[in-house]
Amino acid sequence: MKDQWYHTAILYSLDLETYMDGNGDGIGDFGGLTSKLDHLSGLGINCIWLRPFFPSPLVDDGYDVKDYFTIDPRFGNPGDFVDFIIKSGALGIRVIIDLVINHTSNQHEWFLKSRSDKNSRYRDYYIWKEEITDEDQEENMLEEGGIWNWDDEAGAYYMHHFLKEQPDLNIGNPDVRREIKKIMGFWLQLGVSGFRIDAAHIIVHESKDELYDFLGDIREFVNRRNHEAVLLAEANVEPEDLNKFFGEQSQSRMHMLFNFYTNKNMFLALAREDAGPLRESLGKTQKINGQWVNFLRTHDELNLEMLSDDERQEVFRAFAPDEDMKIFGHGIRRRLPPMLDCNRQKMELIYTMMFSLPGLPLINYGEEIAMGDDLSLKGRESVRTVMQWDDQENAGFSSAPESEFAHALIDSGKYDYRKVNVSMQQKDPGSFMNWMERLISTRKHSPQLGFGECFLLENNQGSVHSFCNLWGSEAIVVLINLKGEDCRVKIDQGKHKFGSLSELFSNTDYQSVEDIKNDIELTAFGYRWFKSDIKK
Ligand code: MG
Repeated sequence: MKDQWYHTAILYSLDLETYMDGNGDGIGDFGGLTSKLDHLSGLGINCIWLRPFFPSPLVDDGYDVKDYFTIDPRFGNPGDFVDFIIKSGALGIRVIIDLVINHTSNQHEWFLKSRSDKNSRYRDYYIWKEEITDEDQEENMLEEGGIWNWDDEAGAYYMHHFLKEQPDLNIGNPDVRREIKKIMGFWLQLGVSGFRIDAAHIIVHESKDELYDFLGDIREFVNRRNHEAVLLAEANVEPEDLNKFFGEQSQSRMHMLFNFYTNKNMFLALAREDAGPLRESLGKTQKINGQWVNFLRTHDELNLEMLSDDERQEVFRAFAPDEDMKIFGHGIRRRLPPMLDCNRQKMELIYTMMFSLPGLPLINYGEEIAMGDDLSLKGRESVRTVMQWDDQENAGFSSAPESEFAHALIDSGKYDYRKVNVSMQQKDPGSFMNWMERLISTRKHSPQLGFGECFLLENNQGSVHSFCNLWGSEAIVVLINLKGEDCRVKIDQGKHKFGSLSELFSNTDYQSVEDIKNDIELTAFGYRWFKSDIKK
């Protein structure tokens, strides 16, 4: 179990549309992505999470799927997909794809048949009601109003937790489950290493045991077809409910979950310059049965829903003071560098923090070069601008005129592609990208961080987060100073008996420390990783 590849993977998420346009039509595609695999391999990425590339009316950025068995022609054809899989594999990069099974597009043939004929076998693929009460109308996830929408053709209401163009599938129907397995089997056969289950917390919304069992059922299916394949779920729920997604007793459902809980606490801790929220979060998330995927920002908003109102306001004050930086009342629609005023020390600190947590790290495209955002764009488009490859016309993304781009290009201000791009950072040894490459490489050479068990270490500074990851007879000790002031910290080694410390990674050249009992120096927003033996 413990030798699974996903314990030491470095994940990278991207959307084809914004990554690299290979055929000059202004839309990123498989040909373009394949031509950039060397960049990812050079960074040290060994798993790509690819966002939806299926035919779609695109009312929700491709998360409204019209056909699960092929590729949107804008991105290429199935041959281009296979070519991409083969070349990724040759570079040691696995691929996980999005599986959107909470809902389909209302243009999917199942829905068209479901609404047009009450007696069709597809009727029960969706959830219909002829009458609804006010109580039925729970709040929708993405738009104003409730989750039931009247359909004239069907003469009934259908359920949709997201947009009305995204009717919810009836996962309780065994025929729907069979269809889902067929979709998974198809893509596994084409070489993917797993799936990211979109909106898993909504699929099991009714909290019915049979729906949780469905998660176990698809895991069993996926691993029967490919014993190395993984399921990664999006489940933004309270920590006490998370084990239901992993499997209560043993890990029998999802292999991995996004660590939403720690994500918001990292930002709260940084806003307060206080390690308290991180200590609490480590306490609550370390007793979980499965593997975490840690992240800072994704292609969505930074979701702060589960913080209290006061805590959320603290984070807003620090990182999104203006109204147009916020979204949906609980989120931030900015990329990380503008949130941190492009403060290199703080950026290094928070990435080092994220990379040292139990679980595996995920970076979103463009994070490696500290790309910015464009708040003049609508909604979440602000963080979905095209990848900045070089300082040539169109940032090297496409040969099409910019007016034909599917997504905007940042061509003014501090984050202009002529100032922030891959090519420039490749040549500069002090660039953020080169720093990120070193972080990834150190992390990959420190299996204790992926496999180890994590323990909090008490210390005498409120702003310092200290913990260790233990694996066999070795440990990595992590110290993070969240305050903009230098300090000296005294670590309580607790029940552990550390041997001599050797410095693995740090923000500056510190005086060496041999014994954990000594005072340890940390600069403002400083960080240090030490390796140590553990004495019996
Ligand atoms: Mg194209």
